[in-house]
Amino acid sequence: MIRRIFLDSHTLYASTASGLSRSQFEAFARQLPLLYLILVVNSFAVAFTHVGTAPAWLAIYAPAAMCSACILRLFVWLGRRKYLASMSDAQVAARLKNTVLLIALLGIIFTGWGLLLFPYGDPYARAHVAFYMSITVIGCIFCLMHMRTAALLLTAIVIVPFTVFFSLTHNLVLIAIAINVVLVSIAMIIILLTYYRDFARLVESQRALEAKQSELQHLSDENLRLANLDSLTGLPNRRRFLADLDALFRSTKDGQAGFAVGVIDLDGFKQVNDVYGHGAGDRVLEEVGRRLLQFSAPTLSLARLGGDEFGLLVRDVTDRQQLLDLGASICSALQVPYAWQGTTARLSGSLGFAMSPSTGRSPAQLFEHADYALYFAKEHRRGGTTIFSREHEEQIRELGQVDQALRHADLEREMTLHFQPIVDVSSQRVISYEALARWNSPSLGLIPPSLFIKVAERSGFIHALSVKLLCKALAEMRAWDPATRIAFNLSAHDIGSAEAVGNIVDIVTKSGIAPGRLTFEVTETALIQDFEQATSSLHALKNLGVRISLDDFGTGYSSLTCIHRLPLDKVKIDRGFLKDIDSDATAQNVVRSIVELCRSLKLTCVVEGVESGVQVSVLRGLGCTVMQGFYFGHPAPFGSRGPVQQNFA
Ligand code: C2E
Ligand code: CA
Ligand code: CA
Repeated sequence: MIRRIFLDSHTLYASTASGLSRSQFEAFARQLPLLYLILVVNSFAVAFTHVGTAPAWLAIYAPAAMCSACILRLFVWLGRRKYLASMSDAQVAARLKNTVLLIALLGIIFTGWGLLLFPYGDPYARAHVAFYMSITVIGCIFCLMHMRTAALLLTAIVIVPFTVFFSLTHNLVLIAIAINVVLVSIAMIIILLTYYRDFARLVESQRALEAKQSELQHLSDENLRLANLDSLTGLPNRRRFLADLDALFRSTKDGQAGFAVGVIDLDGFKQVNDVYGHGAGDRVLEEVGRRLLQFSAPTLSLARLGGDEFGLLVRDVTDRQQLLDLGASICSALQVPYAWQGTTARLSGSLGFAMSPSTGRSPAQLFEHADYALYFAKEHRRGGTTIFSREHEEQIRELGQVDQALRHADLEREMTLHFQPIVDVSSQRVISYEALARWNSPSLGLIPPSLFIKVAERSGFIHALSVKLLCKALAEMRAWDPATRIAFNLSAHDIGSAEAVGNIVDIVTKSGIAPGRLTFEVTETALIQDFEQATSSLHALKNLGVRISLDDFGTGYSSLTCIHRLPLDKVKIDRGFLKDIDSDATAQNVVRSIVELCRSLKLTCVVEGVESGVQVSVLRGLGCTVMQGFYFGHPAPFGSRGPVQQNFA
């Protein structure tokens, strides 16, 4: 929240008053040498004309002492002037007071001296004294125009005795001079008062302006600070992180000590948000921020980049091991269960690093590479650390080529569908076929779907591809036996917006194929990207009359809570569990519990990746009846299909 500064009238007044003293002092300081000069030169002239007529102590020694004192004082003053800026307000006020007293004292001394000197010499010399006193006081009042008190005091000290003294001489000329001087002094005092009032106002408005400016500056500093801060965790935000990265890159450009950019992404955060609500999500993010702050050091800065993504800048990095150790400590800190309001959740964080200067030629590229390393960590080393390497660079290049080729591909001609049977071993019948995309690129050759689907998903091209493939599948189905069913894979984008799922619904409706012949397969990862939207998309499909299957079950984070909230018909156990199913008791237990879960939720359970007869019998023992895999048939063009493996038992 923006903290406002209020200057109350008292502090404003106090600061203006002290500001005025300082300004007075500064202005006066400029004129003081002139004041002493007038005093010394005029006094010298009068003393000179009285040498010989007045006693020596009055004509020589007294003025010599007075003038020396003035000159000495002037030098002391000039020496101290440079400290004015560093003086406190109280010091300035004290110096100002002393100055007023000193001026009064000088007024008394010089007036006394002038009056003592007056009786000596001829009428010219006497007139000289009168002239000296009047012209000197006028000159001095002028020099004191910024010091109202001193000017008024000096006028009183000089003019009153001067007028009284000369009036008592009964000399008409001298009385006229005295009256003239009084009148001129009064006029000068009026001018001085007006000038002083304007001066004080000017200083006041200047100070008010400065106060306003400093308030504005403070507000803008505060805004800048807030604009660079993440309000939830109190960590610097993405904008600040990128600016720091930029600055760090520039400062270490000339091949000195290297640094690393890190990006952390939480695994399983979306489920916390979906299942427990955004309030719980915020508590978890705050806790993540606190845990990360424990690692903060002069060589390590942290930021929240947005959502459940955090950034790291690690300075003075010497080798990869140093980063791997740091990554391991951070990942294990993030794995400690998160507790709030009686609930606990287990999350992990995956971390990607890119090192400078070896793997990035610009701040943007370093960040991109750290992000790629993170993506890699999430795919292959979930909850662990990956450092961007040459091998990743090669992969990026390959993905780039595939991306380019895909964008320019003639999808109609280059994309085809293969179909793999899904069988019910108890009835020994093929119940459906899974449609699997195949791409034969004229420039790159056969590209596996695991690669081009990933590329299309990253580039956002996937929905266009899904639409094309679905149209092809439906077109093929028209020629088949109306009892034949297919399972078709959808990706996150296809169910990620109402518009995309609307397209799918339209295509199916317009195809004339009975929706009951279709099953759409969606993966858990597709669901968790936006659980609310995904759920409503699945309902829209379900209303159309198609079936929904949850693909690759067991690889992600799907909790049972998620499953029963979705309009599902089938669950496909990921083929990863099948690898050692004949010998691995844990895998058997997992499969058995999923089968039981499906039975209690009244869902069909499909096991995919079945490659041998042994697996078939183990799986049957665990209660599985619906299976898919090379054992029953490889994916192949529909027309070219040979007989499906009949010996299921
Ligand atoms: P998936 O949906 O899990 O598809 C099953 C994959 O397992 C297929 O790989 C299939 O050929 C393979 N498979 C089947 N039986 C066996 C077996 O016994 N052993 C082994 N090792 N593998 C077996 P494929 O065709 O390479 O597809 C890979 C992935 O690409 C698919 O995994 C799916 O996620 C994606 N994909 C394929 N076609 C499409 C599509 O049209 N749309 C979308 N969105 N994704 C697709
Ligand atoms: Ca599938
Ligand atoms: Ca699958």
